[in-house]
Amino acid sequence: MKLHELSVAALGRGLREREFSSVEVTRAFLDRIAARNPALNAFITVTAGRALADAAAADARLARGEGRPLTGVPLAHKDIFCTDGILTTCGSRILGNFVAPYDATVVERLDAAGMVLLGKTNMDEFAMGSSNETSGYGPVRNPWDPGRVPGGSSGGSAAAVAAGLAPVATGTDTGGSIRQPAALTGLTGLKPTYGRVSRYGMIAFASSLDQGGVLAQSAVDAALVLAAMAGPDARDSTCIERPVPDYVAGLERPMRGLRIGIIREFFGPGLEPGTGAAVQAALGGFRTLGAELVEVSLPNLPLSVPTYYVVAPAEASSNLSRFDGVRFGHRCADPQDLRDLYERSRGEGFGAEVKRRIMTGTYVLSAGYYDAYYLKAQQVRSLINADFRRAFAAVDVLMGPTSPTPAFPLGAKVDDPITMYLNDIYTIGANLAGLPAISVPCGLVEGLPVGLQVIGPHFAEELLLAVAHAWQRETDWHQRRPPEPAGGTA
Ligand code: GLN
Repeated sequence: MKLHELSVAALGRGLREREFSSVEVTRAFLDRIAARNPALNAFITVTAGRALADAAAADARLARGEGRPLTGVPLAHKDIFCTDGILTTCGSRILGNFVAPYDATVVERLDAAGMVLLGKTNMDEFAMGSSNETSGYGPVRNPWDPGRVPGGSSGGSAAAVAAGLAPVATGTDTGGSIRQPAALTGLTGLKPTYGRVSRYGMIAFASSLDQGGVLAQSAVDAALVLAAMAGPDARDSTCIERPVPDYVAGLERPMRGLRIGIIREFFGPGLEPGTGAAVQAALGGFRTLGAELVEVSLPNLPLSVPTYYVVAPAEASSNLSRFDGVRFGHRCADPQDLRDLYERSRGEGFGAEVKRRIMTGTYVLSAGYYDAYYLKAQQVRSLINADFRRAFAAVDVLMGPTSPTPAFPLGAKVDDPITMYLNDIYTIGANLAGLPAISVPCGLVEGLPVGLQVIGPHFAEELLLAVAHAWQRETDWHQRRPPEPAGGTA
């Protein structure tokens, strides 16, 4: 296998056994990025010089026998994570000149684990989107079919890992932005429990929903990287004080007797038939492994899209008020007065979808409409939570599709926000309830990947990873790679 095809686990092992050096590995990925990124647009910033220097430092540690599981293994960060001294745009032109003065906790921890940063990945502007088409830096293309979207908002991270431009990448998931792009590009995408991973230095979209996580080639790789990212952080008061289990040690858990609830509401109209069939086949696979399958109803879950599209814009309208042209980011030319400075800086810096969310959010929080929209949405959010609580009294995990369709063509939904929002119909519930969820490749429909979603109770990451791993021991969907473009590259 070529270096860029190796898993995180295999790279870590090979580095410790000195089969190859971190500089060689890093160079292989930088070559892939140089060859493929112009067509895919997965990276906004490539940090080649720093990556090679960090790789050399990792090699020195490896030579001294100080290698740990991730020492010298490259990764990419979604451009929502602040990186000290490196451009951090959050996919927005308003932060087109923002060089972060500090590292996010996630960045700091993966750096401390010895990982080598290749660059910052493209994303929907402020993580608002399901197709990566709202980015201020152009859309990302899906390596499985460059005419299609990679999903969003962590689309750059997904495309980078799927095309072998990085062995693993971070993402964030506010309403599905790790799981949906993972599904659409054939990756394993884990959104941890709200509070499992620190949000410090992760640019805020909707603070009660945002959670950092990982897009990887397998459950093993996701377990390795999550173990290094997760855990309490004094700088984020919503990050839970709870020890991090050894996710890798927990992977080998038999599926016999596992109680799986199949979410009835996830198999209704709107689910593309090929996707439904692939997910059903996966469910059958778990039955063969000895799991017990029962149908479960979460009656309020169909309300999750309208609930989310009130709560998330409300929080976004508040979070994004800090981008005002005064403290950081884009400032308009020759402001006449303070109001003109605010209006033109924001008007020029934000894209259309972000403006739509700010307006929606401001509206639902306004004095006359707060009770009718925001308060009502919070009440429905409680009902959705209660549905999940009831379900988890009877089953260990819930399963269903991750996304209603495989990757759709670029441009197919951009002019119709409601249709775009419906992509999130199966993912948003877990965010509203703060639950961990994982998407695992479970088939191909006309050559495009499909994801199985597994949702667990709070802090069940270990179980979700074990379920994903059990499936990946039996199948090879996660090892399928998108076709290489004709002519070949590095
Ligand atoms: N697609 C959803 C949105 O546009 C979710 C995005 C996310 O998870 N960051 O808000």
